[in-house]
Amino acid sequence: VHTRHRVVAIMPREQQVVVDDLDGGGERRESYDRLLIACGALPVRPALEGIDSDGIHQVNSFGGGLRLRELLDRQSPQRVVVVGGGYIGVEMAEALHQRGLPVTLVQRPAQLMSTLDAEMAEAFAEYLTRAGVTLRLGEAVQGFTSQNGRVSGVVTDQGTIAGDLVILGLGVTPNSALARAAGIPLGVRESIRVNQRQETETANIWAAGDCAESHHLISGRAVHLALGTVANKQGRVAGINLADGEASFPGVLGTAITKFMEGECSRSGLSERELQELGWEYVTATVDGHTLPRYYPGSAPIRVKVLAAKGTGRLLGVQIVGGPGSAKRIDTAAVALQAGLTLEELLYLDLSYAPPFSGVWDPLVIAARLALKET
Ligand SMILES: Cc1cc2nc3c(=O)[nH]c(=O)nc-3n(C[C@H](O)[C@H](O)[C@H](O)COP(=O)(O)OP(=O)(O)OC[C@H]3O[C@@H](n4cnc5c(N)ncnc54)[C@H](O)[C@@H]3O)c2cc1C
Repeated sequence: VHTRHRVVAIMPREQQVVVDDLDGGGERRESYDRLLIACGALPVRPALEGIDSDGIHQVNSFGGGLRLRELLDRQSPQRVVVVGGGYIGVEMAEALHQRGLPVTLVQRPAQLMSTLDAEMAEAFAEYLTRAGVTLRLGEAVQGFTSQNGRVSGVVTDQGTIAGDLVILGLGVTPNSALARAAGIPLGVRESIRVNQRQETETANIWAAGDCAESHHLISGRAVHLALGTVANKQGRVAGINLADGEASFPGVLGTAITKFMEGECSRSGLSERELQELGWEYVTATVDGHTLPRYYPGSAPIRVKVLAAKGTGRLLGVQIVGGPGSAKRIDTAAVALQAGLTLEELLYLDLSYAPPFSGVWDPLVIAARLALKET
């Protein structure tokens, strides 16, 4: 293992990589029989005016997180602006809110969590606003103001928001520049194109994780999903295959989960926007229920939305928003989606029940029952 070494070029014909020793040892070549590219993803960092000011942070590595925490301890910022309302933006808003800081979250789309459908995102956003986070949705960041090199505000198309700490959570792009320079074919969103064995289209080279493409199990399309769940499985498959074993990565559903304080949200499969892009006919049902029987202590609100194919009733997607105990129910939905179950089949799954855990009919099953009526 060579830590503090950066690969600066891949030479597929020579079966070599050029490595730069970051501690001053210079560049050298290393040979390989088989190569795995697992360079991850890079945070999106648009070339906006003032973006290099002190106090503007991206949290894309463990070290970056630690540096931010040290800064919070040392400099005691007064007002935080989080730019981006996806998983990382929401989780950073939670962490900073828990430290007692006033947080404003700005997001260009008109809803928080654009991976959810609007009414689900709205329900989730309530957990943030109720806690005192100011949400500025549908507002595009154009730059940053600074004083003595330190950020003092975020300029948007609707004004300037004061803030002396800015967190950018604008998503990621596959770190595929090395692969592209080596002539390894790229696919969707410039991720490295791979087959189900995680092989690239270049001999003896595999790719896995945030830099690689995935196959969507429902749409059948190539997608890029930068998630640890996907990266771990792809890495396992690539490792088995390049050690002469046999493994195949079936694909992804885009299952994801997050929380803000008491509020949880999760999704798996396709959303309405994705189904509309595909031009598929679908039905939906949304249920507002409780995580536990209402008489039981600790029962919290939960909203479940189910999407299914018109006609066949095949489950196409599920989204969940609610209080404690809500979001992890998505795993039942993910299994049903991956198994290609219909609503009818989901209805009769032998799921568990006791009052401390759920109602007799879980809200997921109730939503499926309602959606079945629409098919
Ligand atoms: C703040 C945060 C929270 C997250 N939370 C979740 C979560 O809750 N659930 C979830 O599923 N996913 C989560 N993720 C995503 C998850 O961390 C990634 O999907 C996962 O780490 C990807 O693994 P990887 O091995 O592909 O890439 P990485 O873990 O990014 O590793 C890539 C490594 O390659 C190194 N590298 C890059 N280029 C070179 C080069 N040229 N030479 C040598 N080394 C190089 C990098 O330095 C890095 O160490 C989160 C990500 C972030 C940033």
